[in-house]
Amino acid sequence: MAPLPDFLQGALQQALSLGKTHAVLITGQAGLGQFELARALSQAWLCEDHAPGTPACGHCASCHLVAQRSHPDERWLLPAALRVQLGFEEAPAEGKAKPSKEIRIDEVRAMLDFSISTSGRGQGKVVGIHPAEALNTVAANALLKTLEEPGGALRFVLSCAAPDELLPTIRSRCQVLQLEAPSAAQATQWLAHQGLPAADAQTLLSLSAGRPGQALSWHSAGLNTQRLAALVTDAQQGDLSAHEALGLPTLIDLLARLAHDQLRRAHGQAALYFDGASLPPPAKAEALQRWAQELRQARAKGEHPLTPGLWLDTLAAQAQAGLRPAKG
Ligand SMILES: [Zn+2]
Repeated sequence: MAPLPDFLQGALQQALSLGKTHAVLITGQAGLGQFELARALSQAWLCEDHAPGTPACGHCASCHLVAQRSHPDERWLLPAALRVQLGFEEAPAEGKAKPSKEIRIDEVRAMLDFSISTSGRGQGKVVGIHPAEALNTVAANALLKTLEEPGGALRFVLSCAAPDELLPTIRSRCQVLQLEAPSAAQATQWLAHQGLPAADAQTLLSLSAGRPGQALSWHSAGLNTQRLAALVTDAQQGDLSAHEALGLPTLIDLLARLAHDQLRRAHGQAALYFDGASLPPPAKAEALQRWAQELRQARAKGEHPLTPGLWLDTLAAQAQAGLRPAKG
């Protein structure tokens, strides 16, 4: 298990100080380290060789089992799509149906069986749920009773990166731990440890509004200072074909940040995500609002655009119009 980033140590201490609470919800904007913190908390709860209320020792048998994702008293409820990505499962054979992005009712049912089983190692049991907003309504409803009153030895840790999408009935049954963005110095240092050149770390941190996990994930997707500059230039030219590999959700997200910055600049404010000096002069506010609206619609259609072959061209044409500087 990778060591918990320094910038999450304070939050781990805070979570541990909640004492014997039966359900902790770690929430905040995406990319702040919710899942990593949730795993560290679970490991601490199950650790067999540490003082109560302190982080896991990292070397007892239980800690090893958690690190290997094979602790008999720990269960993670994850969307199928994440089980592979996060190393809980091998990749499925080619040609299989696309893995689900929701946590489904049958997974909750399997967890309910686990919840009434006897603890294997006698340190209690933990159910982790990541991300909690991926529970569909049926699955969430099946969970509520156990979440409210888990059997004696069972505790829950939930992570959430889209607080608006989380059902209030889930939230109200948990102690909420709100994650804040780390300081720029902490985040930059951590990104440097992950192998990001300083300039890229700065660019991507700024682009993510200070969320290091998001910055790292963009970096892994091939984004850096140079490619971001190329994206802006290509968007101005109305041709995004060189950036198709980023995928629809990422591209929409980046363009939405660009539209947001241009709108701020049209109102005389400084850019928030991009380096303002590198951006073209902004279009009129009305044109930018239209573009931002188009991007919201594109996002709502998600990964199922009506005409898959056309989405890139449409996004590019809208971006070109949105980036055309106001005349006069
Ligand atoms: Zn331990």
